[in-house]
Amino acid sequence: MHGAEAGKSLIQFNHCKKSIYSFSVPLCCPLCQGNVGSMKLEEAPVSIANPFTNGHQEKCSFLLRPTQGTFLREYDGRSDLHVGITNTNGVVYNYNAHGVQRDKTGWEQSISILLLQPNMYGLMDQWDKYLEDFSSLGTWLPHRYEEDHHNCYSYTLMFINCILTTEGKEPLDKSEFTERYVVPRTRLASKYLTLYRAIQEHGFYVSDHPGQEPCLAPGSGLC
Ligand SMILES: [Zn+2]
Repeated sequence: MHGAEAGKSLIQFNHCKKSIYSFSVPLCCPLCQGNVGSMKLEEAPVSIANPFTNGHQEKCSFLLRPTQGTFLREYDGRSDLHVGITNTNGVVYNYNAHGVQRDKTGWEQSISILLLQPNMYGLMDQWDKYLEDFSSLGTWLPHRYEEDHHNCYSYTLMFINCILTTEGKEPLDKSEFTERYVVPRTRLASKYLTLYRAIQEHGFYVSDHPGQEPCLAPGSGLC
């Protein structure tokens, strides 16, 4: 990701026996005003990985983003989320009340989960055809759409299960897929957003217990 969509990078350093997070290392500690430059090696700042990527640069991946707006600007932990699948050219296939959409923009700030295991690369040649054929099924006509039971998540999960079946693997049910693949990523993203917003507002964020920052509950609504 580049520029504004990527957001600023976050760093974490230790001072005053606390973990302090900010957008860049300040000259003096915001708590004691002491010099931050003279840190011991174990206090050296580390950067916090940005959990968001440009979905249009991800091949064969499951993507998640807020239905409206972006994670960094608008997401409040309760907003509806929307999901899709990328083809090998970064086109994002997703299902909504208007049928299957093939988006070339709009997924620049997404949580991305690669769906191809290293031993499945042979599948990449067929991926775009599978995805296009799957999306042309009558199952995904606009009038079949139902907000709670036949939605973007049904579409992506059914496609993932078609792929797993093709590979001779067991299909996943919704809660298995969510727990195993999605929740770990949304948890990280929530933590990152908490830090990001706090730093935006106060310039820094202090944690008494390193590694145990409060988490926002990931939104459960899907469209
Ligand atoms: Zn200090």
